[in-house]
Amino acid sequence: MPMLTDNLFLKIINKEIPAKVVYEDDQCLAFHDIGPKAPVHVLIIPKKVIPTHDAITEADAPLIGHLHVVAARLATQFGLTDGYRLVINCNNQGGQTVPHLHIHLMGGRDFLWPPG
Ligand code: AMP
Repeated sequence: MPMLTDNLFLKIINKEIPAKVVYEDDQCLAFHDIGPKAPVHVLIIPKKVIPTHDAITEADAPLIGHLHVVAARLATQFGLTDGYRLVINCNNQGGQTVPHLHIHLMGGRDFLWPPG
């Protein structure tokens, strides 16, 4: 598993490396995951650098809410009417590999519970 070191997503926000962007506004960016784990696999990220979920503060609440509104809108846009899975991995044991908060929006197949 890659180490939680370089902030790759900041480079995507700054257009230093390419991504297949599906949505952008002043607060966030959404783009296709480079290694999709489902027919639809989009990452929604804040433009503000928040490294991990446990670094979120009360001041971030409107931003986090906005990310979820965008996720719901994208789920509709991608036709995920049968449902979808949102995932936020946090730190090493949570399986986080990129140190910039992101929501995985995955759909187009069935998901197991509990997750692996
Ligand atoms: P996580 O393991 O939760 O930190 O998720 C990081 C995700 O970023 C993984 O699903 C990777 O496939 C994805 N990823 C890594 N590099 C890129 C990239 N350059 N463009 C799009 N997605 C990426």
